[in-house]
Amino acid sequence: YDSLPVGALRVEFSQPVNLEEVARINPQVRAGGRFAPKDCVALQKVAIIIPFRNREEHLKYWLYYLHPILQRQQLDYGVYVINQDGEEEFNRAKLLNIGFAEALKEYDYDCFVFSDVDLIPMDDRNTYKCYSQPRHLSVSMDKFGFRLPYNQYFGGVSALSKEQFTKINGFPNNYWGWGGEDDDIYNRLVFKGMGISRPDAVIGKCRMIRHSRDRKNEPNPERFDRIAHTRETMNSDGLNTLSYKVLRTDKYPLYTKITVDIGSPNS
Ligand code: BGC
Repeated sequence: YDSLPVGALRVEFSQPVNLEEVARINPQVRAGGRFAPKDCVALQKVAIIIPFRNREEHLKYWLYYLHPILQRQQLDYGVYVINQDGEEEFNRAKLLNIGFAEALKEYDYDCFVFSDVDLIPMDDRNTYKCYSQPRHLSVSMDKFGFRLPYNQYFGGVSALSKEQFTKINGFPNNYWGWGGEDDDIYNRLVFKGMGISRPDAVIGKCRMIRHSRDRKNEPNPERFDRIAHTRETMNSDGLNTLSYKVLRTDKYPLYTKITVDIGSPNS
C-alpha cells in the first residue's frame, strides 16, 4: 500500500467478500497475515487478536477492510484469530489472553490490539497501535448512535502495550457468556493507576456488522457480581492462571487461526 492514511472511509456490508481476491489486492501481506513496511522501520510491532467462533462471514469483511488500513498505518503487524473449539459458553476475555500468549511465542510484539470480529473502523486515522495509556479505539459505534454507551465503556476494540497488559495480570479467564469482561478489564486498568486514552468521536467512528445473538453466548448472569469484585480477583485470575490447549494452528494467507480447547466454567 503506497499511500498514507486518507481519513474517512466508506464501510458497508452488502457485497460478499472473496478472500482470494482480498489476498490478490494485498500482495504485501505474508502468510499468516503478517506485514511490515518496506521503506521504514515501523514504530511498533502489533499483534491483532480476534476472539472467534463461527463468524466466517464477519471475518471476511474484517480482513477485506482492515488489511489495507493497517498497511497504510505502516504497522509491523500480524493477525491472530483465536477460535474457541467445542460447544461451551463463549469466553471472549480468555481467548484474548490466549492470543497474547500465542502471538508472543511467534514474534517479539510490543503492542496488542484486541478486536471483535464484527467491528470495522470508518476512519483510517484511528491508528491500531499502543499509547502511553491503554487505548479504547471503538469509541463511536453506529450501534450506540456514534457515541459511548457510558464513560467507562472499554468494549469492542482496545489496545494495550505488553507492559500495560502484564501490569494488570492480563484479562479475566472466568467470564463465560456475554458481557462484563470488558468492564472487568476497565476496572483492572483503573486499579493499577492507568487511564483510558481515546481518539475523538469523528476519527473513532466504526460500524458493527449486524447479527443475531450467537448460540452459547447468552448474557452472563454472574457478570454484575464479578465486576463488583475485580479488585480482589484480578491478582489470582488472569495471565498467571491461564491454561488451555492448542488443538491446531492454520496459517492462511491473510491470518493465523489458532483453535483452542479452553475448558468449561467448572473445570
Ligand atoms: C456489559 C458490557 C457491554 C456493554 C455494552 C455492559 O452492560 O457489561 O460487557 O460491552 O454493556 O453493550
